[in-house]
Amino acid sequence: MPGKIIEGRNLKPQDWTLMPDFCVVGSGAGGGVCALKLAEAGFDVIVLEEGPNIAQGDGPAPAQKRPVLNERESQMYKLLYQEGGTRLTANGGVKVMQGRCLGGGTAVNWSACLPPRLETLDEWQKRGLPFTRQNLEPFLREVVNYLPVVRNDKYNSSARKFIEGCAALGVPHDNLPNNTHDCRECGSCGVGCPYDRKMSGFVKWLPDAIAKGATVWTDTKVDKLVAGGDRVTEVHAHFIDGKNRPTKGTLVVKPKKGVVLAAGSIGTPGVLLRSKMDLGKRVGKFTHIHPVTITIGKYPEKTSPAYGVPDNMFTPKFSAGPTGYLIETGSFFPVLSASATLQHGEELHRIMRDYYPSGAISYAHHTTGFDEQEPYGTVRLDDDGEPELDYRIPKANVKPMQESLVEMCRIHLAAGATSVYVMRNPPLEVKPTSGFEEIRKIDFTEPQRATIFTVHVMGGCQMNKDERRRVVNNDFTFGQMKNLWVVDGSLFPTALGANPQVTIYSLALWGAQEICRQNNATFQLNHQQGGALPWPGY
Ligand SMILES: Cc1cc2nc3c(=O)[nH]c(=O)nc-3n(C[C@H](O)[C@H](O)[C@H](O)COP(=O)(O)OP(=O)(O)OC[C@H]3O[C@@H](n4cnc5c(N)ncnc54)[C@H](O)[C@@H]3O)c2cc1C
Repeated sequence: MPGKIIEGRNLKPQDWTLMPDFCVVGSGAGGGVCALKLAEAGFDVIVLEEGPNIAQGDGPAPAQKRPVLNERESQMYKLLYQEGGTRLTANGGVKVMQGRCLGGGTAVNWSACLPPRLETLDEWQKRGLPFTRQNLEPFLREVVNYLPVVRNDKYNSSARKFIEGCAALGVPHDNLPNNTHDCRECGSCGVGCPYDRKMSGFVKWLPDAIAKGATVWTDTKVDKLVAGGDRVTEVHAHFIDGKNRPTKGTLVVKPKKGVVLAAGSIGTPGVLLRSKMDLGKRVGKFTHIHPVTITIGKYPEKTSPAYGVPDNMFTPKFSAGPTGYLIETGSFFPVLSASATLQHGEELHRIMRDYYPSGAISYAHHTTGFDEQEPYGTVRLDDDGEPELDYRIPKANVKPMQESLVEMCRIHLAAGATSVYVMRNPPLEVKPTSGFEEIRKIDFTEPQRATIFTVHVMGGCQMNKDERRRVVNNDFTFGQMKNLWVVDGSLFPTALGANPQVTIYSLALWGAQEICRQNNATFQLNHQQGGALPWPGY
C-alpha cells in the first residue's frame, strides 16, 4: 500500500508513538535515496523532516504544480531554508545556505551535477574509504539514469558572457550537466521549482518512496536519539507550526530495525550531540565547506540575469589540487545578491541599479579539507541546543580565493564588461584599467560579515580509518552502534571539490545497499541501462 505525507503543522496536539522498521531522519539528498531503497526492499519506512511539505496543487494539471512555491525570494528563503536563509558561521564570516523542507537541499539547489573528483577519491582511499570511480560507477549510473542527469545547453546571460570571455582568453569551458528537464527558464531553482522541471527529492525519490509504502512526516523535528547498549531504541521528535514554533504534540519512534541519519552536515552532528553521542568529541569535527567567491560583471546591454538555468557552464581549468576551485556561472538572484553586498540605503540602490539589470554573475567553489593539520570547521550546540558551525577560512585557500576573483574579473572584462563588482566588505569595483592589486590584498581569514557564502556543507561525521577521526565506519554504521547508519554529506572526510549532490546520492545508494545486506534484504539497482555517463573527459 502506498504511504503518504503527514504534515506535523496540521496535527491536533497529541503524542504519537510509531514502530516502523526504519526511521530516516531528514528528507534531503541522502534521506530521499535511503527512504526509496529501503521501502523498495519491503521495509516499513518513515521519514522525519523538520521542514515543511511542498504539496502539489489540486487544480486540473496546472502548469504551476506547487502553488506554495511562489518564486518570491523574500518569502521563499524564510520558508525553505535553514534559519530562514540567515544561517551564518559562528563568527559571521560565512553565510551558510542549506535547505530545510521536503527534499532538503535538493529542493532549492541549482541542479548542477558533477561526479566526485578522481583526486578526491584517491585522497579518501588514503584515509581508508572504500570508494573508487570504478566501484562507484553503478551507483553513479543509477543516479544519472534515474533522475536523469543531462547536458542542458539552454544558457542564461551569465553563461553566455562567460563563454564569450573564456573564448576570448582561451580558457577551456564546458557544459555542466544538470537534472532539469524541459526547463521553463524562470530561474527560480534556488527558491524551489514550482513546475516540477527540476528533478529534486520531492519530485523523484520521495514520491517513489511513498508509492512503495514510506510515510513522510514533515514539520517534525528530531530532538534526540535514545540508545540502550549498542542499539538505538527510540527517536524523540516534536512538531512545528506554520510559524516555526513547537506545537504541543510529540512523536516517539521505536524502530524495529534501526535509524538512518540524513539530517545534513550540520543537522546530523546536531542530533548526535543533543543525544550525547559524541564519540569522545569526534562528532561535528572537521566540517568542511566550499567557500564561494563571487563576481558580477556589468555589461553595456540589458541582460535579465535572474532568468534561465542557473548553473550549467563552468571551467575545470583551476579545479585540480587540494585548494583548486571550480568557476561556474549562476543566476543573479536579486535579493540574495543584494544582501550579500552588505550595503544599504543609497549605496545599495546604486549597486543594484548599476549591476542588476545588465549584470552577469560567476562564482568559484573552493576545495578545502585536505590538510590533516587544519581543524577546519566544528559543529557544536548553542545555548538553545541548536547546531552552529564554527569555521575559519583556511590560510591555504586565501591565495586561490584571491586568484579566483582575478580570473573571474578577467573573463568578465574579456567578454566586454565595463566594470566588475567583487563581493568584498567594503565592496570593490574593478574597471578595465584598474588592475587587480586590491583583490590580492583581500584577507579572507578576517571575517567580513558574510560576503563569503557556501551552499556546500560536508563532513562532521566522517568515515576514516584513523580512529581519532572516525565517526562512521565503512559499512555506514555509527561508532559501535549496530542499528544506526549515516548516509548524508556529513560522512565526507574532506570537501569534495565538485558540486556534491550526485556524490551524496551515490554514497547513499551504497549505504542503502549496506543496510539491506545487514538486514538480510534484497537491494537492487534498477537503472543500469547502457550509454556513456554525461561527463566526458572529466
Ligand atoms: C542554494 C543551494 C544551491 C545548491 N546547488 C547545488 C548544485 O547545483 N549542485 C549540487 O550538486 N549541489 C548543490 N547544492 C548542495 C546540495 O543540495 C547538498 O549538498 C545536498 O542536498 C546535501 O544533502 P544531505 O543529504 O547531506 O542534506 P540535505 O539535503 O541538506 O538534507 C537534510 C535534511 O534534514 C533535515 N533536518 C535537519 N535537521 C533535522 C532534524 N533535527 N529533524 C528532522 N529533519 C532535520 C533538513 O531540514 C533537510 O531537509 C546546493 C545547495 C543549496 C542550499
